Amino acid sequence: MKIAVIGGGAGGIAAAIYAKRNNMKNSVTVFERGDRILKKLLATGNGRCNLSNESISPENYFSHTPDSLEQILSAFPENEERQFFASLGILLCSESGRIYPYSRRANAVSDALRFECERLGIKICTNSFIDRVLVKDKLFIIKGEQFDSVIISCGGMSAPSFGTDGNSFKLLKALGHTVTPTCYALSPVKVRENVKSLKGIRVHCSVTLYDKNNMVKQEEGELQLTDYGLSGIVIMQLSRLAAKGSTITVDLMPDFSQEELSEFLTERRKKLSHLKAEDFLTGFLHKALGQYILGRCGISASLPASKLEENEIFRLAKELKKLSFTVDCVLGKEQSQATSGGALLSEFNTKTLESKKHSGLYCIGEALDCVGDCGGYNLHWAWTTAYIAGKAVSKCLK
Ligand SMILES: Cc1cc2nc3c(=O)[nH]c(=O)nc-3n(C[C@H](O)[C@H](O)[C@H](O)COP(=O)(O)OP(=O)(O)OC[C@H]3O[C@@H](n4cnc5c(N)ncnc54)[C@H](O)[C@@H]3O)c2cc1C
Repeated sequence: MKIAVIGGGAGGIAAAIYAKRNNMKNSVTVFERGDRILKKLLATGNGRCNLSNESISPENYFSHTPDSLEQILSAFPENEERQFFASLGILLCSESGRIYPYSRRANAVSDALRFECERLGIKICTNSFIDRVLVKDKLFIIKGEQFDSVIISCGGMSAPSFGTDGNSFKLLKALGHTVTPTCYALSPVKVRENVKSLKGIRVHCSVTLYDKNNMVKQEEGELQLTDYGLSGIVIMQLSRLAAKGSTITVDLMPDFSQEELSEFLTERRKKLSHLKAEDFLTGFLHKALGQYILGRCGISASLPASKLEENEIFRLAKELKKLSFTVDCVLGKEQSQATSGGALLSEFNTKTLESKKHSGLYCIGEALDCVGDCGGYNLHWAWTTAYIAGKAVSKCLK
Protein backbone atom coordinates (compact mmCIF):
# COMPACT_ATOMS: atom_id res chain seq x y z
CA MET A 1 0.00 0.00 0.00
CA LYS A 2 1.25 3.51 -0.82
CA ILE A 3 0.75 5.94 2.03
CA ALA A 4 1.38 9.69 2.00
CA VAL A 5 1.84 11.68 5.19
CA ILE A 6 1.45 15.44 4.80
CA GLY A 7 3.43 17.26 7.48
CA GLY A 8 6.64 16.03 9.09
CA GLY A 9 5.94 17.16 12.65
CA ALA A 10 5.63 15.02 15.78
CA GLY A 11 2.35 13.41 14.73
CA GLY A 12 3.24 12.89 11.07
CA ILE A 13 6.59 11.24 11.76
CA ALA A 14 5.19 8.97 14.49
CA ALA A 15 2.30 7.97 12.19
CA ALA A 16 4.74 7.19 9.37
CA ILE A 17 6.75 4.96 11.74
CA TYR A 18 3.64 3.13 12.96
CA ALA A 19 2.37 2.66 9.40
CA LYS A 20 5.66 1.20 8.21
CA ARG A 21 6.30 -0.96 11.29
CA ASN A 22 2.81 -2.40 10.95
CA ASN A 23 3.53 -3.65 7.47
CA MET A 24 7.02 -3.36 6.06
CA LYS A 25 5.57 -3.77 2.58
CA ASN A 26 3.91 -0.37 2.88
CA SER A 27 5.60 2.42 1.02
CA VAL A 28 5.43 5.53 3.21
CA THR A 29 6.27 9.04 1.98
CA VAL A 30 6.32 12.12 4.23
CA PHE A 31 5.85 15.52 2.57
CA GLU A 32 7.25 18.34 4.69
CA ARG A 33 7.15 21.95 3.55
CA GLY A 34 10.20 22.98 5.59
CA ASP A 35 13.83 22.16 4.87
CA ARG A 36 13.79 19.56 7.64
CA ILE A 37 11.32 17.54 9.64
CA LEU A 38 10.45 17.98 13.34
CA LYS A 39 11.54 21.61 13.61
CA LYS A 40 8.80 22.52 16.08
CA LEU A 41 9.59 19.54 18.29
CA LEU A 42 13.04 21.05 18.93
CA ALA A 43 11.42 24.14 20.48
CA THR A 44 9.02 22.27 22.74
CA GLY A 45 9.32 22.51 26.50
CA ASN A 46 11.95 25.26 26.08
CA GLY A 47 14.12 22.78 24.19
CA ARG A 48 13.54 20.06 26.80
CA CYS A 49 10.49 18.51 25.09
CA ASN A 50 7.73 17.89 27.60
CA LEU A 51 6.41 15.02 25.51
CA SER A 52 3.59 13.73 27.68
CA ASN A 53 2.07 13.67 31.13
CA GLU A 54 1.54 10.93 33.71
CA SER A 55 -2.07 11.94 34.21
CA ILE A 56 -4.09 12.04 31.02
CA SER A 57 -7.83 12.56 30.99
CA PRO A 58 -10.37 14.16 28.62
CA GLU A 59 -10.60 17.02 31.14
CA ASN A 60 -7.14 18.12 30.07
CA TYR A 61 -8.42 18.75 26.55
CA PHE A 62 -10.86 21.08 24.84
CA SER A 63 -12.82 20.21 21.72
CA HIS A 64 -16.10 21.44 20.25
CA THR A 65 -17.21 17.78 20.26
CA PRO A 66 -15.81 16.52 23.58
CA ASP A 67 -17.69 13.20 23.40
CA SER A 68 -15.13 11.80 20.97
CA LEU A 69 -12.16 12.56 23.22
CA GLU A 70 -12.60 9.72 25.70
CA GLN A 71 -12.67 7.13 22.94
CA ILE A 72 -9.66 8.53 21.11
CA LEU A 73 -7.53 8.95 24.23
CA SER A 74 -8.36 5.49 25.54
CA ALA A 75 -7.46 3.88 22.21
CA PHE A 76 -3.79 4.50 23.02
CA PRO A 77 -2.84 1.61 25.35
CA GLU A 78 -1.35 2.83 28.63
CA ASN A 79 2.10 1.40 28.10
CA GLU A 80 2.30 2.06 24.38
CA GLU A 81 3.84 5.52 24.68
CA ARG A 82 6.71 4.31 26.90
CA GLN A 83 7.22 1.29 24.65
CA PHE A 84 7.26 3.47 21.56
CA PHE A 85 9.98 5.72 22.97
CA ALA A 86 11.86 2.74 24.43
CA SER A 87 11.83 1.15 20.96
CA LEU A 88 13.53 4.32 19.66
CA GLY A 89 16.13 4.09 22.43
CA ILE A 90 14.74 7.04 24.40
CA LEU A 91 14.71 6.83 28.16
CA LEU A 92 11.98 8.89 29.79
CA CYS A 93 11.70 10.60 33.15
CA SER A 94 9.06 12.55 35.00
CA GLU A 95 9.10 15.92 36.77
CA SER A 96 5.93 16.55 38.80
CA GLY A 97 3.98 14.37 36.39
CA ARG A 98 5.42 15.94 33.24
CA ILE A 99 7.24 13.46 31.06
CA TYR A 100 10.55 14.41 29.41
CA PRO A 101 13.33 12.53 27.68
CA TYR A 102 15.87 11.64 30.39
CA SER A 103 18.44 13.85 28.63
CA ARG A 104 15.95 16.77 28.83
CA ARG A 105 16.90 17.48 25.25
CA ALA A 106 14.34 17.75 22.47
CA ASN A 107 16.96 16.96 19.84
CA ALA A 108 17.43 13.52 21.42
CA VAL A 109 13.79 12.80 20.52
CA SER A 110 13.95 14.33 17.05
CA ASP A 111 17.20 12.48 16.24
CA ALA A 112 15.76 9.15 17.41
CA LEU A 113 12.63 9.64 15.28
CA ARG A 114 14.77 10.54 12.25
CA PHE A 115 17.03 7.51 12.71
CA GLU A 116 13.96 5.24 12.86
CA CYS A 117 12.59 6.77 9.65
CA GLU A 118 15.95 6.05 7.97
CA ARG A 119 16.04 2.47 9.31
CA LEU A 120 12.51 1.78 8.08
CA GLY A 121 13.11 3.30 4.67
CA ILE A 122 10.45 5.98 5.04
CA LYS A 123 10.81 8.45 2.19
CA ILE A 124 11.11 12.04 3.44
CA CYS A 125 10.45 14.81 0.90
CA THR A 126 11.42 18.17 2.41
CA ASN A 127 10.70 21.55 0.80
CA SER A 128 7.45 19.96 -0.39
CA PHE A 129 4.48 22.18 0.31
CA ILE A 130 1.23 20.35 -0.46
CA ASP A 131 -1.54 22.77 -1.33
CA ARG A 132 -4.01 20.25 -2.70
CA VAL A 133 -4.94 16.62 -2.64
CA LEU A 134 -6.95 15.34 -5.57
CA VAL A 135 -9.30 12.41 -5.07
CA LYS A 136 -9.78 10.25 -8.16
CA ASP A 137 -11.22 6.73 -8.31
CA LYS A 138 -10.75 6.33 -4.52
CA LEU A 139 -7.06 7.18 -4.90
CA PHE A 140 -5.30 10.35 -3.78
CA ILE A 141 -3.07 12.33 -6.09
CA ILE A 142 -0.34 14.45 -4.57
CA LYS A 143 2.19 16.21 -6.79
CA GLY A 144 1.14 13.96 -9.64
CA GLU A 145 1.78 10.75 -7.67
CA GLN A 146 -0.97 8.30 -6.70
CA PHE A 147 -1.44 7.10 -3.12
CA ASP A 148 -3.89 4.62 -1.57
CA SER A 149 -4.09 6.53 1.70
CA VAL A 150 -3.22 9.96 3.03
CA ILE A 151 -2.61 11.10 6.60
CA ILE A 152 -3.02 14.83 7.08
CA SER A 153 -0.76 15.99 9.88
CA CYS A 154 -0.01 19.61 9.00
CA GLY A 155 -0.69 20.98 12.48
CA GLY A 156 -2.67 24.11 13.36
CA MET A 157 -2.04 27.81 12.86
CA SER A 158 0.18 28.65 15.83
CA ALA A 159 3.87 29.41 15.48
CA PRO A 160 3.98 29.81 11.66
CA SER A 161 7.78 30.04 11.73
CA PHE A 162 7.63 26.24 12.20
CA GLY A 163 5.54 25.81 9.06
CA THR A 164 2.12 25.81 10.70
CA ASP A 165 0.05 28.70 9.40
CA GLY A 166 -3.42 27.19 9.23
CA ASN A 167 -3.08 25.89 5.66
CA SER A 168 -4.06 22.44 6.97
CA PHE A 169 -7.56 23.82 7.45
CA LYS A 170 -7.72 24.88 3.78
CA LEU A 171 -6.64 21.39 2.71
CA LEU A 172 -9.28 19.79 4.94
CA LYS A 173 -12.02 22.14 3.78
CA ALA A 174 -11.15 21.45 0.16
CA LEU A 175 -11.64 17.76 0.94
CA GLY A 176 -15.14 18.51 2.23
CA HIS A 177 -14.37 18.56 5.94
CA THR A 178 -15.78 21.01 8.47
CA VAL A 179 -13.33 23.12 10.43
CA THR A 180 -14.64 24.37 13.78
CA PRO A 181 -13.93 28.00 14.81
CA THR A 182 -10.22 28.40 15.49
CA CYS A 183 -8.27 30.64 17.86
CA TYR A 184 -4.79 30.76 19.33
CA ALA A 185 -4.40 28.85 22.58
CA LEU A 186 -1.66 28.63 25.17
CA SER A 187 -0.59 32.25 24.64
CA PRO A 188 0.73 35.09 26.76
CA VAL A 189 -1.49 38.15 27.14
CA LYS A 190 -0.76 41.84 26.65
CA VAL A 191 -2.31 44.01 29.34
CA ARG A 192 -3.38 47.68 29.30
CA GLU A 193 -1.46 48.55 32.49
CA ASN A 194 2.18 49.59 32.24
CA VAL A 195 4.11 46.63 33.63
CA LYS A 196 7.52 47.35 32.08
CA SER A 197 9.18 47.59 35.52
CA LEU A 198 8.06 44.02 36.28
CA LYS A 199 9.77 42.40 33.28
CA GLY A 200 11.48 39.12 34.18
CA ILE A 201 9.78 38.61 37.56
CA ARG A 202 8.42 35.11 38.26
CA VAL A 203 6.08 34.60 41.14
CA HIS A 204 4.00 31.75 42.54
CA CYS A 205 0.39 32.90 42.70
CA SER A 206 -3.20 32.15 41.85
CA VAL A 207 -4.70 33.87 38.79
CA THR A 208 -8.38 34.24 37.94
CA LEU A 209 -9.92 35.20 34.63
CA TYR A 210 -13.18 37.16 34.64
CA ASP A 211 -15.53 38.00 31.81
CA LYS A 212 -17.23 41.15 33.09
CA ASN A 213 -17.87 40.06 36.70
CA ASN A 214 -18.19 36.36 36.04
CA MET A 215 -15.34 34.09 37.00
CA VAL A 216 -14.28 32.00 34.00
CA LYS A 217 -11.26 30.02 35.15
CA GLN A 218 -8.71 29.91 37.94
CA GLU A 219 -5.17 28.53 37.91
CA GLU A 220 -2.39 28.33 40.48
CA GLY A 221 1.31 28.18 39.63
CA GLU A 222 4.13 30.33 38.36
CA LEU A 223 3.29 33.65 36.71
CA GLN A 224 5.91 35.25 34.48
CA LEU A 225 5.80 39.00 34.03
CA THR A 226 7.02 40.50 30.79
CA ASP A 227 7.46 44.07 29.60
CA TYR A 228 4.08 43.89 27.85
CA GLY A 229 2.01 41.70 30.18
CA LEU A 230 1.55 38.26 31.65
CA SER A 231 2.90 34.88 30.67
CA GLY A 232 3.77 31.51 32.15
CA ILE A 233 1.78 28.30 32.37
CA VAL A 234 -1.00 29.80 34.53
CA ILE A 235 -1.72 32.44 31.88
CA MET A 236 -1.39 30.05 28.92
CA GLN A 237 -4.00 27.80 30.49
CA LEU A 238 -6.47 30.72 30.65
CA SER A 239 -5.61 32.40 27.37
CA ARG A 240 -8.01 30.45 25.16
CA LEU A 241 -10.89 31.90 27.18
CA ALA A 242 -9.54 35.46 27.46
CA ALA A 243 -10.42 38.34 25.15
CA LYS A 244 -9.82 42.06 24.81
CA GLY A 245 -11.30 43.72 27.91
CA SER A 246 -11.31 40.58 30.10
CA THR A 247 -9.97 40.99 33.62
CA ILE A 248 -7.23 38.86 35.11
CA THR A 249 -6.67 39.13 38.85
CA VAL A 250 -3.53 37.89 40.52
CA ASP A 251 -3.55 36.68 44.11
CA LEU A 252 0.06 37.07 45.18
CA MET A 253 -0.57 35.57 48.63
CA PRO A 254 -2.88 32.60 48.00
CA ASP A 255 -2.08 31.10 51.42
CA PHE A 256 -3.57 34.11 53.26
CA SER A 257 -7.09 35.48 53.40
CA GLN A 258 -7.35 39.25 52.99
CA GLU A 259 -8.08 39.63 56.72
CA GLU A 260 -5.07 37.53 57.68
CA LEU A 261 -2.96 39.58 55.34
CA SER A 262 -4.16 42.88 56.87
CA GLU A 263 -3.28 41.54 60.35
CA PHE A 264 0.10 40.33 59.08
CA LEU A 265 0.87 43.76 57.57
CA THR A 266 -0.28 45.58 60.71
CA GLU A 267 2.02 43.42 62.82
CA ARG A 268 4.84 43.94 60.31
CA ARG A 269 4.38 47.74 60.50
CA LYS A 270 5.12 47.49 64.23
CA LYS A 271 8.15 45.23 63.82
CA LEU A 272 9.65 46.99 60.80
CA SER A 273 8.77 50.57 61.66
CA HIS A 274 12.35 51.64 60.82
CA LEU A 275 11.88 50.75 57.12
CA LYS A 276 10.66 52.94 54.30
CA ALA A 277 7.52 51.82 52.50
CA GLU A 278 9.60 50.80 49.47
CA ASP A 279 11.24 48.06 51.58
CA PHE A 280 8.19 47.19 53.65
CA LEU A 281 7.04 44.37 51.40
CA THR A 282 10.53 43.03 50.66
CA GLY A 283 10.99 39.76 52.45
CA PHE A 284 7.90 38.13 51.02
CA LEU A 285 7.64 39.85 47.64
CA HIS A 286 10.04 40.72 44.82
CA LYS A 287 11.22 44.29 45.48
CA ALA A 288 10.13 45.69 42.09
CA LEU A 289 6.75 44.02 42.46
CA GLY A 290 6.39 45.49 45.95
CA GLN A 291 7.14 48.96 44.60
CA TYR A 292 4.64 48.43 41.79
CA ILE A 293 1.97 47.50 44.34
CA LEU A 294 2.76 50.61 46.42
CA GLY A 295 2.35 52.68 43.24
CA ARG A 296 -1.00 51.04 42.48
CA CYS A 297 -2.10 51.93 46.05
CA GLY A 298 -0.88 55.52 45.67
CA ILE A 299 1.60 55.12 48.55
CA SER A 300 4.89 57.02 48.31
CA ALA A 301 7.95 54.74 48.32
CA SER A 302 9.74 57.13 50.70
CA LEU A 303 6.99 57.08 53.33
CA PRO A 304 8.25 55.56 56.63
CA ALA A 305 6.51 52.21 57.23
CA SER A 306 5.48 53.45 60.70
CA LYS A 307 3.37 56.14 59.00
CA LEU A 308 1.29 53.70 56.96
CA GLU A 309 -2.33 54.30 57.89
CA GLU A 310 -5.03 51.68 58.46
CA ASN A 311 -6.68 52.36 55.12
CA GLU A 312 -3.29 52.05 53.37
CA ILE A 313 -2.65 48.69 55.05
CA PHE A 314 -6.14 47.65 53.91
CA ARG A 315 -5.42 48.79 50.32
CA LEU A 316 -2.09 46.95 50.27
CA ALA A 317 -3.72 43.73 51.48
CA LYS A 318 -6.47 44.10 48.89
CA GLU A 319 -4.03 44.73 46.08
CA LEU A 320 -1.84 41.79 47.11
CA LYS A 321 -4.89 39.52 47.04
CA LYS A 322 -6.44 40.93 43.88
CA LEU A 323 -3.95 42.68 41.64
CA SER A 324 -6.09 43.36 38.63
CA PHE A 325 -5.10 43.62 34.95
CA THR A 326 -7.18 44.32 31.85
CA VAL A 327 -6.41 42.22 28.80
CA ASP A 328 -5.46 44.35 25.82
CA CYS A 329 -5.09 41.32 23.57
CA VAL A 330 -4.21 37.66 23.62
CA LEU A 331 -0.95 37.31 21.72
CA GLY A 332 -1.36 34.98 18.80
CA LYS A 333 0.56 33.47 15.96
CA GLU A 334 4.23 33.28 16.96
CA GLN A 335 3.70 33.46 20.71
CA SER A 336 0.98 30.84 21.02
CA GLN A 337 1.88 27.19 21.41
CA ALA A 338 -1.28 25.55 20.11
CA THR A 339 -4.50 26.08 18.17
CA SER A 340 -7.98 25.64 19.52
CA GLY A 341 -10.42 24.36 16.88
CA GLY A 342 -9.74 22.33 13.74
CA ALA A 343 -11.16 19.41 11.78
CA LEU A 344 -14.49 18.37 13.30
CA LEU A 345 -13.87 15.10 15.17
CA SER A 346 -17.32 13.70 14.47
CA GLU A 347 -16.46 13.55 10.74
CA PHE A 348 -13.78 10.96 11.55
CA ASN A 349 -14.15 7.43 12.84
CA THR A 350 -12.84 7.71 16.42
CA LYS A 351 -11.42 4.17 16.34
CA THR A 352 -9.29 4.77 13.24
CA LEU A 353 -9.35 8.53 12.57
CA GLU A 354 -10.37 7.70 9.02
CA SER A 355 -12.52 10.31 7.34
CA LYS A 356 -16.20 9.46 7.02
CA LYS A 357 -16.15 11.39 3.75
CA HIS A 358 -13.21 9.70 1.99
CA SER A 359 -12.11 6.16 2.67
CA GLY A 360 -8.31 6.14 3.06
CA LEU A 361 -8.05 9.74 4.30
CA TYR A 362 -6.91 10.29 7.91
CA CYS A 363 -6.28 13.36 10.04
CA ILE A 364 -4.16 13.56 13.19
CA GLY A 365 -2.52 15.91 15.70
CA GLU A 366 -3.21 19.58 16.04
CA ALA A 367 -5.08 19.77 12.72
CA LEU A 368 -7.94 18.06 14.55
CA ASP A 369 -10.36 19.99 16.74
CA CYS A 370 -8.64 19.28 20.05
CA VAL A 371 -6.26 21.32 22.18
CA GLY A 372 -4.66 20.20 25.42
CA ASP A 373 -3.48 22.00 28.53
CA CYS A 374 0.15 22.92 29.07
CA GLY A 375 2.13 20.00 30.45
CA GLY A 376 2.82 17.59 27.59
CA TYR A 377 -0.83 17.10 26.65
CA ASN A 378 -0.53 18.36 23.07
CA LEU A 379 2.37 16.10 22.19
CA HIS A 380 0.55 13.23 23.88
CA TRP A 381 -2.38 13.97 21.55
CA ALA A 382 -0.01 13.93 18.57
CA TRP A 383 1.44 10.49 19.56
CA THR A 384 -2.02 9.11 20.37
CA THR A 385 -3.62 10.10 17.09
CA ALA A 386 -0.49 9.04 15.18
CA TYR A 387 -0.73 5.59 16.75
CA ILE A 388 -4.42 5.23 15.90
CA ALA A 389 -4.15 6.37 12.28
CA GLY A 390 -0.73 4.77 11.67
CA LYS A 391 -2.03 1.37 12.72
CA ALA A 392 -5.39 1.72 10.98
CA VAL A 393 -4.00 2.90 7.66
CA SER A 394 -2.28 -0.43 7.02
CA LYS A 395 -5.54 -2.29 7.50
CA CYS A 396 -7.57 0.09 5.36
CA LEU A 397 -9.44 -1.92 2.74
CA LYS A 398 -9.89 -0.02 -0.46
C1 LIG B 1 7.24 26.95 21.19
C2 LIG B 1 6.34 25.74 21.40
C3 LIG B 1 6.55 24.94 22.51
C4 LIG B 1 5.70 23.83 22.71
N1 LIG B 1 5.97 23.02 23.79
C5 LIG B 1 5.20 21.92 23.99
C6 LIG B 1 5.51 21.02 25.04
O1 LIG B 1 6.50 21.15 25.76
N2 LIG B 1 4.67 19.95 25.22
C7 LIG B 1 3.58 19.72 24.40
O2 LIG B 1 2.86 18.75 24.60
N3 LIG B 1 3.30 20.55 23.37
C8 LIG B 1 4.09 21.62 23.13
N4 LIG B 1 3.83 22.45 22.07
C9 LIG B 1 2.70 22.08 21.14
C10 LIG B 1 3.16 20.92 20.23
O3 LIG B 1 4.43 21.20 19.70
C11 LIG B 1 2.17 20.70 19.08
O4 LIG B 1 0.87 20.55 19.59
C12 LIG B 1 2.55 19.46 18.27
O5 LIG B 1 3.83 19.63 17.70
C13 LIG B 1 1.53 19.19 17.16
O6 LIG B 1 1.99 18.13 16.37
P1 LIG B 1 1.51 17.96 14.87
O7 LIG B 1 2.29 16.82 14.31
O8 LIG B 1 0.04 17.89 14.81
O9 LIG B 1 1.92 19.30 14.14
P2 LIG B 1 3.30 20.04 14.05
O10 LIG B 1 4.29 19.51 15.00
O11 LIG B 1 2.96 21.49 14.15
O12 LIG B 1 3.83 19.69 12.60
C14 LIG B 1 3.16 20.05 11.42
C15 LIG B 1 4.17 19.98 10.29
O13 LIG B 1 3.48 20.08 9.06
C16 LIG B 1 4.23 20.89 8.16
N5 LIG B 1 3.28 21.42 7.18
C17 LIG B 1 2.28 22.30 7.41
N6 LIG B 1 1.57 22.48 6.29
C18 LIG B 1 2.12 21.70 5.33
C19 LIG B 1 1.81 21.44 3.96
N7 LIG B 1 0.76 22.01 3.38
N8 LIG B 1 2.61 20.60 3.25
C20 LIG B 1 3.67 20.00 3.84
N9 LIG B 1 4.00 20.21 5.15
C21 LIG B 1 3.22 21.02 5.89
C22 LIG B 1 4.87 21.92 9.05
O14 LIG B 1 6.00 22.49 8.45
C23 LIG B 1 5.19 21.09 10.29
O15 LIG B 1 6.47 20.53 10.22
C24 LIG B 1 4.65 23.55 21.82
C25 LIG B 1 4.46 24.38 20.71
C26 LIG B 1 5.28 25.46 20.49
C27 LIG B 1 5.07 26.33 19.28
